Amino acid sequence: MSKTIVLASNNTGKLVEMQALLAPLDYQLCTQSSLGVAEIGEPHPTFIENCLTKARHAARHTGLAALADDSGLCVPALHGAPGVHSARYAGENAQPHRDQRNNAHLINQLYGSIERGAYYYCVMVYLRHADDPQPIMTEGIWHGMILDAPRGTQGFGYDPLFWLPELDKTAAELDLAEKNQRSHRGQALRRMIIRLGEE
Ligand code: IMP
Repeated sequence: MSKTIVLASNNTGKLVEMQALLAPLDYQLCTQSSLGVAEIGEPHPTFIENCLTKARHAARHTGLAALADDSGLCVPALHGAPGVHSARYAGENAQPHRDQRNNAHLINQLYGSIERGAYYYCVMVYLRHADDPQPIMTEGIWHGMILDAPRGTQGFGYDPLFWLPELDKTAAELDLAEKNQRSHRGQALRRMIIRLGEE
């Protein structure tokens, strides 16, 4: 019998991607919103704390095992910013066109800097139940450089600025399968699937 897991995110794109990868393991994913669970904030200074908080919230309110992820872009020349604030880098209420505003802000912050290195980071947490003392945690890191003008139309977020020297392409110039093969989220998810398979 398949096991139902709640995904502590309302992002249907993530749901589709994860569902496909989890299918061979006979896990059934459903979003927390489909179970009437409201989203919780991301108040902590680290990805892992925010991720655990989201997973615990979903598990507590559904009684199910929960899977959460948290991710963002880190730029060492900016002391790790935008980091956990990646989604809101241009301001809490930067709408509409949030991604474009975040990208414009990043270009401004790096203006004149020759240090262009950056990486996407993703952490995933699986909690068997809300009080699970030993969560499964996996990570993924994807290195690139930040351009000073956007290139490409695919992906989302900072992808048009995230340039991969080995491909001479930005993440926004990769199709979904190419991106998933390399990305921080793809890495973390593949590692999570191995761990879940061992459970
Ligand atoms: P979250 O994991 O949905 O909380 O994503 C946080 C934010 O990090 C997003 O809103 C984006 O700004 C950024 N981010 C995370 N992953 C990616 C990615 O694969 N491409 C572009 N931006 C990303």
